Amino acid sequence: MHTGSAVTITRAPLPRADIDALCARFEDAHPTAIIRWAVEQFGSGLCMTTSFADTMLIDLATSVEPDIEVIFLDTGFHFAETIQTQRRAQARYALNLQVVRPPPDAADVWADGSDACCGDRKVRPLDDALLDGHTAWMSGLRRADSRGRAGTPIVEVDRRGLVKVNPIATWTDEQVATYSADCGVIVNPLASEGYESIGCWPCTDPPALGADRRAGRWAGLDKTECGIHL
Ligand code: SF4
Repeated sequence: MHTGSAVTITRAPLPRADIDALCARFEDAHPTAIIRWAVEQFGSGLCMTTSFADTMLIDLATSVEPDIEVIFLDTGFHFAETIQTQRRAQARYALNLQVVRPPPDAADVWADGSDACCGDRKVRPLDDALLDGHTAWMSGLRRADSRGRAGTPIVEVDRRGLVKVNPIATWTDEQVATYSADCGVIVNPLASEGYESIGCWPCTDPPALGADRRAGRWAGLDKTECGIHL
C-alpha cells in the first residue's frame, strides 16, 4: 500500500474577502466568464480535472484556453466506456492531457477497503499532480449533483492551499442538457444506461429512481465522496 506524505501547504490562499467577492461576482455569470477570469488570473498555473463522464467542462474551458492542462486520474478501475470517452475527447479537442496513475503498490478496493483505495488511487495522486507547479484548478462540481454538494462555491481555497474554481457550480440539469445538445458535448455511453454519476466500476451503480444522481456511488457504504473534493 502506498503511504504518501501529508499535503504540505506552501502557498498563501487569496484573502477571504477576495474569495467572497469573487463568489458574489460570479453567482450569475456564465461559466465561460468564470473560466476566462481564471485563465487570466492564474495562467499556466491553472489546470482542470475531468472524470470523462462527459466533456462539458472540457468544451467550455478549451473554448477559452485550448491548451489548458487537463488532469485525468486513471485509477486502474475505470469502465471501458470511460476510457472510450477519453479517447474520443482527445481526438476532438487535441487535449493537453495529463493521465495520472497510482503507484504499483496502491491499495486495492477489495483487499484494503474503499477509503484506502481512493486514497492511493485518487486523493494522493491528485495532491501530487496539483502541487506540481499549479496555483489553481477547476472542477466540474455542481450544486445539483447531490445534497452534499448543494453548497458548492464558485471559488474557494482548497485544503492544499490552492484556489479551486467550480465554473458550472450553479448550472441546473436543464442548463447542462441545453448546452450539451447545442454544443455536441461528448457523453459517456453509460449515461444512457442510467449511470448518472460515473466513477470506478467496482464502486458505481445506477442510482435508484428519484435518488441523488450520486447515490449509486459506493452504494451500501456510508461514503459519498472519494476525498479529492474534501
Ligand atoms: Fe478504488 Fe472504488 Fe475509490 Fe475507485 S472509487 S479508487 S475502485 S475505492
